[in-house]
Amino acid sequence: MNDNKAPKISIVVFIDALGWEVLKGRHFMETQLPFRRKLRSVFGFSSACIPSILTGLMPRQHRHWSFFYYSPQTSPFKPLRILRLLPRSLVDRGRVRNLISKMIKSLYSYTGYFQLYNIPFEHVDKFDYCEKSDLFKPGGMNQGENIFDHLSRAGVSYHVSDWRDSEEQNLEALKSDLKKKDISFALLYMASMDALLHEVGKESPQVDEKLEWYEKQLDEVLRLASEQYEQVRVFICSDHGMATVHTHIDLMSKIEELGLTFGSDYTATYDSTMGRFWFHNQGARERITELLELIPLGRILPLGELQQLGCDFEGDQYGEMIFLMDAGVLIVPSHMGINPITGMHGYHPDDPDSDASLLSNAEPLNDPQAITDVFHLMRAESGA
Ligand SMILES: [Zn+2]
Repeated sequence: MNDNKAPKISIVVFIDALGWEVLKGRHFMETQLPFRRKLRSVFGFSSACIPSILTGLMPRQHRHWSFFYYSPQTSPFKPLRILRLLPRSLVDRGRVRNLISKMIKSLYSYTGYFQLYNIPFEHVDKFDYCEKSDLFKPGGMNQGENIFDHLSRAGVSYHVSDWRDSEEQNLEALKSDLKKKDISFALLYMASMDALLHEVGKESPQVDEKLEWYEKQLDEVLRLASEQYEQVRVFICSDHGMATVHTHIDLMSKIEELGLTFGSDYTATYDSTMGRFWFHNQGARERITELLELIPLGRILPLGELQQLGCDFEGDQYGEMIFLMDAGVLIVPSHMGINPITGMHGYHPDDPDSDASLLSNAEPLNDPQAITDVFHLMRAESGA
């Protein structure tokens, strides 16, 4: 026994979109991490899944789901409406939108991930945004407590990546803390797999290259950790997988062809995989429902199913009606993007491509089955 070593560290590595089906047929870290299981995801995008991983709660409970929700009374975006007067060719450019998003983030002191995406400025004053605070800090949740609330209350000395930094920076920061030996729990955040999978799809050889890179980097982290700690427990987890897009649908135009008025008859927001609707009169509700029922590529989610999925919200916060596309069907254009892409997630959790993964070098405690169980795993590992 080396007296200089600290007793134990648990390292949780979060790799965004490292789905169970993405890993299928690949041998990513099989020797180092022989305990492998799929985890059921949570219905929604990363904006819903990550809060569930960090809290163990369903979206209904932590109240994070899709970024934008109808709330004209509380909308902080009224001043942005003026931008509707600028030509769309200018304000719809990704770079311009990023710049405006950055300005708002700083003006409003948002510490969370803020991105305007493609929400039309004409209607932006009708929406509020759900991730104003940093999820990776104590007090970051809209409702409930996250792992960082527990860690700080328990006085655990831990490391967490800054999600604003690059993967390289996050690796360096972790390694530097490991060398100091004064932490017993670490959460490493790796985000760029998601962007790659969106761009090239899960079958691409570029995904193999990226996995090789992760393996090399994480081997180095493991090696360094074993030099400093007697026992090193490592868990790689993800939030969801990635489906390959095979069909596009212009849902927005279909709704607009009904001739109803956005804002006075209904309000809608179009995420990449779902349309979410609020109705301001019965006629609009009936006509939109009728139209959606005739679209074969998706379906209206009944309330009972939303309840089972943990996505039934108080006051129908995220939509009075949710129309979800079948896996592989992409809404183009949407309020999340105007360009078609190869991979997408945010489909039904029953779809195999939605499944997330948990890989580890030790049998995970408490038999985790879903991404919400990663929270309980982190609590058990950290002793918080
Ligand atoms: Zn994504």
